[in-house]
Amino acid sequence: MTKKIFGIDLGGTSIKLSVVSTEGDIIDQWSVPTDNKDEGQHIIHDLNQAIDAKMKENNWTNDDILGIGMGSPGVVNREKGTVTGAYNLNWVDEQPVADDIRSYFNADWPIFIENDANVAALGEQWKGAGDHASDVVLVTLGTGVGGGVIVNNQLVVGQGAAGEIGHMFSKEDGRKCTCGKHGCLETVASASGIVWTAGELAYAMDDTGSAIQGRIFNGEKVTSEDIFKAAEAGDIFAEAVVDETMSHLGRALGQIAAVTNPKYILIGGGVANAGQYLLDKVTQHFNESVYPGVGATTHIKLATLGNDAGVYGAASLVMANI
Ligand SMILES: [Zn+2]
Repeated sequence: MTKKIFGIDLGGTSIKLSVVSTEGDIIDQWSVPTDNKDEGQHIIHDLNQAIDAKMKENNWTNDDILGIGMGSPGVVNREKGTVTGAYNLNWVDEQPVADDIRSYFNADWPIFIENDANVAALGEQWKGAGDHASDVVLVTLGTGVGGGVIVNNQLVVGQGAAGEIGHMFSKEDGRKCTCGKHGCLETVASASGIVWTAGELAYAMDDTGSAIQGRIFNGEKVTSEDIFKAAEAGDIFAEAVVDETMSHLGRALGQIAAVTNPKYILIGGGVANAGQYLLDKVTQHFNESVYPGVGATTHIKLATLGNDAGVYGAASLVMANI
């Protein structure tokens, strides 16, 4: 029997798992809820039980497992297999994730842990819109803005914190970011950044008669999804919000492309559900600012795997490293 790989995507609401063959076929895929009570101390135990149950179900022994790949939020120490400061898991102090798994199973499996956004980029490169290209950038627009950069089939990790696309400087006199600086891309192009921009523009512009602007004036909650839908339907105010936010994103992608000239820049995350309309807008602003020699060869596309990118990318870590 050929060996199996576990691909794991640790998230704040669920732990996603996959079993992948050494040929790269996905054999099984499931998830268990994340129990982040008690400073997240149940998470690895629950994960171990989920792996254990799958092994028993298939009569697999430790020797049948080639290794484990994992994407995690927070700061990853790749050598030690630890994670620190994963706040949506309630992990503040350093967690010995790899050691906890190996000791539970009494196994000497190789375990590769990588930042979750980087892992998603690997997943899209392998099974999604990256189409096996050697140079791919993934930008995820969600609660924050995340990213992963692959150059020459290698994740760019730098000294540990590379690929933090959300913290590229983007806007003069911009809002304060979660990182402490002002004007990061994340404060403009994340779901909350888009809503913040709408709140600012609503009062900076005259009353356009827009339904979205009216809701903001009335103190009602609007979402980035509401804004994109309204813009696509011709709401002048919502169009202005989309133009403002996508111009910052498009320029930032132009800067990334100028440095790495990837074949594809993929846009994922919840905000990207706005689909072709968002893609057209960001591409327009990208083309306006990008160096022509780069713009001709770097293509912006929508990511295709959604929440599955993480488990595929996590499994690919094992194949890439063994
Ligand atoms: Zn920042």
